[in-house]
Amino acid sequence: MLGPFLLKYHHMFVNSSSTGAFILSRNGRSADYVGASADDLVGTLGRFARQSDYRYFWFVEARSDREAAEIEQTWLHRYRPSDNPSRSSALHGSGWRCTIEGCPTCALATSVR
Ligand SMILES: [Zn+2]
Repeated sequence: MLGPFLLKYHHMFVNSSSTGAFILSRNGRSADYVGASADDLVGTLGRFARQSDYRYFWFVEARSDREAAEIEQTWLHRYRPSDNPSRSSALHGSGWRCTIEGCPTCALATSVR
């Protein structure tokens, strides 16, 4: 993972038309939002830069949209970002499994079912 970088300078760090996952933050320390883009990471970050109050980001580039989605899931479980809508822990159509012991996100997903 690379960062934190200032979100308004995202184009200096992210290659155009890349696939990857990212974390957004207001203070450069806590993970407030986790996301991924299948084919336009720089464009997705650009929208957040214009339309949100996040100031910092971290990212990794992925080799495929599936890998990006798996990284996104892993980060959602590891960092439990406050701004993501709560969602099921299942990633459809993949072999992804959460490996975090006693993961609170998985516990929550199980208790809702
Ligand atoms: Zn989990």
